[in-house]
Amino acid sequence: MRVIDIYNKRKKPVFSLEFFPPRNGETLDKIFSTIDELKIFAPGFASVTGGALGSQRGGTIAIVGSIKRKYNIEGVVHLTCVNKSKHDLENLLMEIKYNDIENVLALRGDPPRDSSASKDYLPDYKYAYQLVKHINLMNNGEYLGESDGISFKGEPAGFCVSVAAYPENHPESASAEENITHLKMKIDAGADYVITQMFFDIEKFLRFRDLAAKRGVTIPIVPGLMPVEKYKQVNFLLKQMGISIPSNFRQMLDSASDNPEKVKEICHNHDLNMARELIAAGVPGIHFFTMNRPEGTKRILERITDGSS
Ligand code: FAD
Repeated sequence: MRVIDIYNKRKKPVFSLEFFPPRNGETLDKIFSTIDELKIFAPGFASVTGGALGSQRGGTIAIVGSIKRKYNIEGVVHLTCVNKSKHDLENLLMEIKYNDIENVLALRGDPPRDSSASKDYLPDYKYAYQLVKHINLMNNGEYLGESDGISFKGEPAGFCVSVAAYPENHPESASAEENITHLKMKIDAGADYVITQMFFDIEKFLRFRDLAAKRGVTIPIVPGLMPVEKYKQVNFLLKQMGISIPSNFRQMLDSASDNPEKVKEICHNHDLNMARELIAAGVPGIHFFTMNRPEGTKRILERITDGSS
């Protein structure tokens, strides 16, 4: 099923779960045990991240396929384009299609943090909107030909496409306006819905959503939420993702920094309040970055649903 249809037909907010592949050589046990704990909340879909340059975490498409077969949960493949030729990308998209997966989160991608690979390594597509355009051509039955400039007419691919967005601007965006301009390019290229980067300050999300609406964005914008519970974890995320933190949350965390149990409680309350406020603000769903662990997401879902979603 196409995820956009799940959003369009929803009677309540759609809860979705994001996983990352284990390191090559490890099992899928953590992903499966996390789903075992969370399936009671009837997740609308599960997505699995895909590495960009030099990642040692393969199997994205196969994992999405396994989740779909084992749990009958709709799947979304994260597909990054920076390090792949357009021919490789089209072949991967065919692999996705032949695995009966209809949903792709089209991304540019970044090199892994511990990699020396440069993101200047960009063969065909420099930005995600180019990948979205390619998928849209496939959706219109146009595929790459044997040589450049020639295309092959085939079956419409039927993909539902999502794209990433950044309520606090992507680190390479010069301004909030530019941030939306580049999001619009992905939507104009054919994206069906948007999933955002995580944030701690709900006002930032709401402002971004308002600006997007003013600029004519009408497709669903789904907030991404990462349940947190450790002081170090929050600081790491702030530094790595360039996101901000409301001053009252910051003050509470700082004053409890040497008391892990208190930090946990403060984080849990903050996560839960954000989820409640987002739902009250009418979001189409919440996308949980589970980090392959059930606890944080479960704690929130138990309190915002009746346990059966
Ligand atoms: P783009 O939309 O291409 O934007 C990248 C930058 O280029 C932005 O600053 C944008 O403003 C700018 N830009 C876009 N178009 C133009 C243009 N025409 N001219 C000039 N500048 C332009 N990464 C992974 O490696 N694997 C994953 O699985 C993954 N999953 C993610 C899931 C979510 C929900 C989110 C929010 C992010 C995810 N990422 C993932 C991270 C993402 O790959 C990075 O944030 C990356 O830096 C940008 O990807 P993008 O698709 O948003 O890029």
